[in-house]
Amino acid sequence: DNTQPKKPDWIRVKAPGGKGYAETRKIMREHNLATVCEEAGCPNVGECWSQGHATMMIMGEICTRGCTFCNVATGRPDALDLFEPGRVADAVKKLGLNHVVITSVDRDDLEDGGAEHFAQTIRAIRHRAPGTTIEILTPDFLKCTPEVLETVVAAKPDVFNHNLETVPGLYPGVRPGARYFHSLRLLQRVKELDPSIFTKSGIMVGLGEDRPAVHQVMDDMRAADVDFLTIGQYLQPTPKHHRVDRFVTPEEFAGYEKAAWGKGFLMVSATPLTRSSYHAGDDFARLRAA
Ligand code: SF4
Ligand code: SF4
Repeated sequence: DNTQPKKPDWIRVKAPGGKGYAETRKIMREHNLATVCEEAGCPNVGECWSQGHATMMIMGEICTRGCTFCNVATGRPDALDLFEPGRVADAVKKLGLNHVVITSVDRDDLEDGGAEHFAQTIRAIRHRAPGTTIEILTPDFLKCTPEVLETVVAAKPDVFNHNLETVPGLYPGVRPGARYFHSLRLLQRVKELDPSIFTKSGIMVGLGEDRPAVHQVMDDMRAADVDFLTIGQYLQPTPKHHRVDRFVTPEEFAGYEKAAWGKGFLMVSATPLTRSSYHAGDDFARLRAA
């Protein structure tokens, strides 16, 4: 049986709607941009979009990987759209964002994994919306030479996020095609290449992991100098996806959060509805003001 256990009340979310929501939707459509908010069926879309916070997904809507928690289609992706960085920058300007999160599908079909496209997108946003801080959420560049990471880092995003997604023991069933220690090392290398960039990572819980494994992941992240941490409840996008093992209680999340602060993260978000990009701008602004 692959159906998920009944959703507890702390997971209920508001239905999307309202003026701000419609405006964000319009800007995304007009600029022909995909968002992970929609692709992933994110439960926070009503709240985020009403404030103009959308996480744009570049390099197409078809991914070369098939992570079992993810709702993005797997297959052979389309050619890169060379005008996309400009459209992303225009949309960021129109939305008037203080902080933007840009993510992408995985592009194992491209020699540089899409590193140059990421760099161009960062540069285009800097040019058109110089006041906006930029957070990127990247794939793992597993099949590329190590130099491609330098291309992305040289474009100087403010925050470099790469999610570990789950504990190492669950990788084969959750994130096939990825390697835990490769992803960890990628985060560490970003920091080595440019210590002024904040690094960020996150995991989902409720996939079958146990508590000691979650603590080990946090320790591994800190050993790799990861600055920001997000932990959220995994929700099954469709019955074909990885099943929800259980719903982690708000109290357990609070325990993870407390432990994470103790381990020295600069920013921590650990709640059932935390997503990698949830309130990313507010948290970052608070940190910079501190
Ligand atoms: Fe989009 Fe992130 Fe907000 Fe979800 S949490 S709606 S993915 S910006
Ligand atoms: Fe989804 Fe990213 Fe995995 Fe592709 S690499 S299937 S977009 S989580």
